[in-house]
Amino acid sequence: AKEAGRDNFQFYTTEMNSRVHGRLNQIEELRTAISGGEFHLRYQPQIDLASGRMVSIEALVRWDHPVKGLISPADFIPLAESSGLIVPLGDWVLQEACRQNKSWQDAGLAPLTVCVNVSARQFSDRTWVCRVKHALDLSGLDAGCLELELTESLLMQNMDQAIATMNDLRELGVRFAIDDFGTGYSNLSALKSFPVARLKIDKCFISNLASDDSDLGIVAAIISLGQNLRMKVIAEGVETGEQLEILRRNGCDEVQGFHFSRPVAPDVIGSMLAGHHPV
Ligand code: C2E
Ligand code: CA
Ligand code: CA
Ligand code: CA
Repeated sequence: AKEAGRDNFQFYTTEMNSRVHGRLNQIEELRTAISGGEFHLRYQPQIDLASGRMVSIEALVRWDHPVKGLISPADFIPLAESSGLIVPLGDWVLQEACRQNKSWQDAGLAPLTVCVNVSARQFSDRTWVCRVKHALDLSGLDAGCLELELTESLLMQNMDQAIATMNDLRELGVRFAIDDFGTGYSNLSALKSFPVARLKIDKCFISNLASDDSDLGIVAAIISLGQNLRMKVIAEGVETGEQLEILRRNGCDEVQGFHFSRPVAPDVIGSMLAGHHPV
C-alpha cells in the first residue's frame, strides 16, 4: 500500500507538472506570437438596412501560427485573457484597426466606423483610456470612426466604473456598442445609464429566427427596447435571406453575417468601398 501510494503521488506530480508546463508553454508561445507579429485582422461588414450600405466593420483577430496554421480567436482569446496577454494583443488590434481605417480614408474612400472587441481585462485597466487615446493619436483616425464593443456581462460587473470610463472616452468622441446582448443578465434599469450607441443582438437568437417563435419574440423585444433607449440595433449572425426579411419587418437598423459577407481581408473591404465588389 505504501509503494502504491508513492507511485500515485509521483504520477500525480508528474501529471500536474506537465499540465502546468503545458499552460506555461502556451503562454510563452502566445507572447512570442505577439512580439513576432503572427496576428492579422479580418473585417466583417455591417449593413445599414435603410440605405443598404456598409456603414461599419468589425475587426476580428486571427493567429497565423507557423506550424498549426490559422487559429481562431475562440482558441486563444481565453488564454490571452487569463494570462493578461490580452492587454498587449488588444493594443495591437486597436492600433492596427485604427491605422487600417485611416489608410482607407486617406485613399479617398467613404469613411467607415471600425468596431473593436474589448475584453474586461483591458477595459478595467487603469491605463485603458490612455491606450485608446494613444491608438487614435498614432493613427490620426478621427475618434468618431472608432466604436468599442463591450459585452453585456463586462458592463454589469462594475457598473459605476464602467460608466465613468465610457464617459471619459465619449468625451473624445469614441462610441460604444453592447455585444452579445441578451445572453448576459442585464440590469435593464442600468442600461439607460450607459452611453451606448448600439445594441448587438447575439447570433444565438438569430439562427432559428425563422422557425422559433420565442426567438422572434425576444428579437422583436430587443429591437424595441434599444430603439426606445435611442440606440441603433444590429443583429449579428444573419445567414439567410429569410432571417434578413424578418429583421427588416421588425425594424432592425443594421445587420452583420455570412449572408452579406464573412470576415474578409482588408483589401476586400477596400474594393467594397471603392464599389468594385458588391457587399
Ligand atoms: P464576437 O465578438 O461575437 O464576434 C462575432 C463572431 O461571429 C465572429 O467569430 C464572426 O466571424 C462570427 N460570425 C459572423 N457572422 C456570422 C454568421 O453569419 N454565422 C456564424 N455562425 N458566425 C458568424 P470569430 O471571428 O471566430 O470571433 C469569435 C469571438 O472571439 C468574437 O465573438 C469575440 O468575442 C472574440 N474576438 C475576436 N477578435 C477579438 C479581439 O480582437 N479582441 C477580443 N477581446 N476578442 C476578440
Ligand atoms: Ca463583437
Ligand atoms: Ca457578438
Ligand atoms: Ca459572441
